Amino acid sequence: MRYRLEFHCHTDESSPCGTVPAAEMVRLYKEAGFDGIVITDHFFDLVEGKPEDCTWKEAVDKLLVGYRAAKAAGDNIGLDVFLGAEIRFPGSENDYLVIGLTEEFLYANEWMYMLTQPEFYKLADQNGLLLIQAHPFRPPCTPVDPQYLHGAEGYNGHKGQPNNNPLAEAFVAQNHLIETVGSDCHYTHAVGTTAMVFPEPIRSTADIVRHLRNRNYDTEKN
Ligand SMILES: [Zn+2]
Ligand SMILES: [Zn+2]
Repeated sequence: MRYRLEFHCHTDESSPCGTVPAAEMVRLYKEAGFDGIVITDHFFDLVEGKPEDCTWKEAVDKLLVGYRAAKAAGDNIGLDVFLGAEIRFPGSENDYLVIGLTEEFLYANEWMYMLTQPEFYKLADQNGLLLIQAHPFRPPCTPVDPQYLHGAEGYNGHKGQPNNNPLAEAFVAQNHLIETVGSDCHYTHAVGTTAMVFPEPIRSTADIVRHLRNRNYDTEKN
């Protein structure tokens, strides 16, 4: 069994830089032979809103528009859709994938993206989530202290970006981090440049976390 999962993709609905509507994204991944996708729309104050501009519920609702549209489309055509986010904290342009999220966790933890990155790491760790630094060597991103990370993207498949993937791969290995790969898909032509491959079907974000912790997966980098 090779269960192929996209780990990093953006919808037009919830990411300002996204260009592919969620339902179309789901169709393209199904066509590309994937079993599932994690929707990782951007999640930070300049996208969803600052505390002075909106309520936390409004901010989370905004993030979830793309995921919910993708989930509905996936349920229709038989592609698993999981909730994720690409979070950013004030004062830096570093991005982090959050794996293991639930809607309940998002609504219950107000203004989580206004925390510092180490504070969020502790929150994630205490709640069984994984914090994965995305494209850590893509300028202006810089790798953070690995003691506040569960993992990092060892390979980012966004072809238009200077990802410096070999440096990312070395960072992961040297610090014994969980390695993920992701297409960082924003465009129809960028679907499925990578896949995370699991030996059994994934049913929930908790399943993903368990397999990652056990290093029970393989990667495809194209
Ligand atoms: Zn983006
Ligand atoms: Zn991204």
